[in-house]
Amino acid sequence: MRSKIVAGNWKMNLTFDEAEELVDNILDRLDEQDEMNCEVIICPPYPYLEMLTDYEFDEQRFNVGAQNCSAYDKGAYTGEVSAKMLKSIDVDYCIVGHSERRKYFGETNEILAEKINRLIENNMSPIYCVGEVLEEREAGRHFEVVKEQLEKGLFHLDGDAIYDTIIAYEPVWAIGTGKTATPEQAQEMHAYIRSLIKEHYDEATADDIRILYGGSCNAKNATELFSQPDVDGGLIGGASLKADDFVSICNQASHIGEE
Ligand code: PEP
Repeated sequence: MRSKIVAGNWKMNLTFDEAEELVDNILDRLDEQDEMNCEVIICPPYPYLEMLTDYEFDEQRFNVGAQNCSAYDKGAYTGEVSAKMLKSIDVDYCIVGHSERRKYFGETNEILAEKINRLIENNMSPIYCVGEVLEEREAGRHFEVVKEQLEKGLFHLDGDAIYDTIIAYEPVWAIGTGKTATPEQAQEMHAYIRSLIKEHYDEATADDIRILYGGSCNAKNATELFSQPDVDGGLIGGASLKADDFVSICNQASHIGEE
């Protein structure tokens, strides 16, 4: 059975002190829970990664991910951060293709495919985001859009490399808007993504890859979303900045399927 994952995307929020306070609060609340039966990944801004990997090493309660990496390996690319640099400070995960990067930074599926290649070369796990904008859903094009994002950005990987990847379905109209996809809408798209993995790879691969839901997932709707058979946890934005809410979501993910 696939274990659940809850990944927090802090985006461009918090000062260093605030970040430290949030991690302390998350750890305090994690300590109050029974053993967590889900993988927790925290994705802070770059300058706080090493502070978090130190905590990760001491506490072993969560993993650390970056929010982005360069499509290039190294060299004269001012302002860029490579997958190799991230790996050298013990970062094992990286979000790729978040809709905010696609929209504000012009990241295409082709650029994202290169970023994924750099991560795989450095033994890191990409968290590859896909999802349609509202107009595409209203036009009934959401399956087509997600298929193209997967085919151009991810499915060039071979059968071994794809195993290290996590997919996040994030309908853009649900991100930061308070408009969550219904559990049925999430399940429908997750099942479709799994069917595409089966078509491109095989059934065992499709059964193993974790597909997260993201888009206004919070402490009130997590159980309902995560109970869907093809939803393997969540990528959490706003609610990951509140220790109580984030740990409640992790806790809910841990107890799915229990009587
Ligand atoms: C996100 O940014 O990946 C996200 C899902 O944001 P939010 O939870 O705030 O909608």
